[in-house]
Amino acid sequence: MRAQPEASHFIGGTWVEDRDGAVFESVHPATGEVIARLHEATPAVINRALEAAHGAQKDWAACPPVERGRILRRAAELLRARNRDLSVLETLDTGKPLQETLVADAASGADALEYFAGFAPTVTGQTIPLGRDMAYTLREPLGVCAGIGAWNYPIQIACWKAAPALAFGNAMVFKPSEVTPLSALALAEILVEAGLPAGLFNVIQGGGACGTALVSDPRVAKVSLTGSVPTGRKVYAMAGEGIKAVTMELGGKSPLIIFDDADLDNAVGAAMLANFYSAGQICSNGTRVFVHRDVKETFLEQLAARTGRIVLGDPLTETTQMGPLVSQAQMDRVLGYVDQGVAEGARLVCGGARHGETGAFVVPTVFADVRDDMVIAREEIFGPVMAVLDFESEAEVIARANATEYGLAAGVFTRDLARAHRVVAALEAGTCWINAYNLTPVEMPFGGVKASGVGRENGHAALEHYTRVKSVYLGLGDVDAPF
Ligand code: NDP
Repeated sequence: MRAQPEASHFIGGTWVEDRDGAVFESVHPATGEVIARLHEATPAVINRALEAAHGAQKDWAACPPVERGRILRRAAELLRARNRDLSVLETLDTGKPLQETLVADAASGADALEYFAGFAPTVTGQTIPLGRDMAYTLREPLGVCAGIGAWNYPIQIACWKAAPALAFGNAMVFKPSEVTPLSALALAEILVEAGLPAGLFNVIQGGGACGTALVSDPRVAKVSLTGSVPTGRKVYAMAGEGIKAVTMELGGKSPLIIFDDADLDNAVGAAMLANFYSAGQICSNGTRVFVHRDVKETFLEQLAARTGRIVLGDPLTETTQMGPLVSQAQMDRVLGYVDQGVAEGARLVCGGARHGETGAFVVPTVFADVRDDMVIAREEIFGPVMAVLDFESEAEVIARANATEYGLAAGVFTRDLARAHRVVAALEAGTCWINAYNLTPVEMPFGGVKASGVGRENGHAALEHYTRVKSVYLGLGDVDAPF
């Protein structure tokens, strides 16, 4: 399959190249092979994208919502029809195994397009009786939105931002991560094929500076970032300068709490999903696994046995369960954390090393006897490294689970549902799971609290973040003036 796109950018419904932009490469992390060469957006390209979006947005906002929805639904169908090709492209770019990309990436992007396609025509305002007079509200689009994506779920992130933005009448300029630039371009092409008017979804390439140029441009009304907390702080501050709306989907160090009455088979499976899916490169991962002291050793035995059976290898082979990390740099970072865990005295239960010599593979790793103050229990590793911590009481584990600057997600495993609800009510996290982990259907709002972010993607909540309310007071009698 050809990964090299026709050009680096997609603007105003067409491919755009500007060879003055610095060249960067997209690398398949399983082999180190260069799969595409692209140019970073120059100021002229960034300006062209913003002009295109600005020029197209007002007509789009005036388009009947049911028609906007019809186009998005057609795009969802195209994504599904081309799921295999898109999945191979995503696997080449990210290194995630085809077994995952076939079901989790373009597929969840299509779900978002379909969901917001149906949502668009249902959006209404309020009528507010005021005695003689009345008021009503209108839900208006914000205008031009900037989307900035991380590298772990490139097409899903692009769809989770584009679908609500477009459904509610906005235009978007999207900048994927430079590490995974390809699938957002495929999405842009599909949206145009589905009938989206030119200029409403534009993709430009580049690193942080390109993102900065978007965020600081006065034509941009809203910024939606998926990325790390340090980037989030910078982008939020910059957006604040322009008093712009923001959605910040940032990192986490989420707790997964396993009580002694939990179904251990399910709890082990969930802990593995929460740490090893996408080779651990998921923002909401439950990387601090708190296991009740009474079941800890049984839990660890089962966990080590099942982890040892994970099939690591060529991500393009469908039986492969875990591929490489996204890049050599990410692998080095993750292996650095593994060394630090060992140095700090955590017990290495399994893994802890690189796999092979060419790709960016890390063997799935479990540390036990982890203490709250260890670096591996405090910092987001973004790799297949699980930290298991013991606890004894409910109050103790809640306090320790919350003792972090992050607040993206949390999970609880117990057969006692009263306890499950009591515990999630006390957890400082934007998204919680009871006897499940990391399921993020589009119907459910997703996002963080504390340093993990502001705003929500998906569900009805997304309406708040891609529209604004206009209040209209309707005077139905004489004006009552004191002068
Ligand atoms: P980064 O924060 O490094 O980058 C995120 C995006 O922001 C990239 O497109 C990046 O460009 C861009 N960027 C970097 N600096 C700036 C800047 N100063 N101004 C504007 N844009 C900038 O995150 P990663 O790509 O490394 O992704 C991993 C992180 O994303 C993890 O922390 C993870 O938890 C988080 N994440 C959060 C999710 C959520 O929904 N809460 C979901 C997925 C990931 P470039 O990469 O090209 O330099």
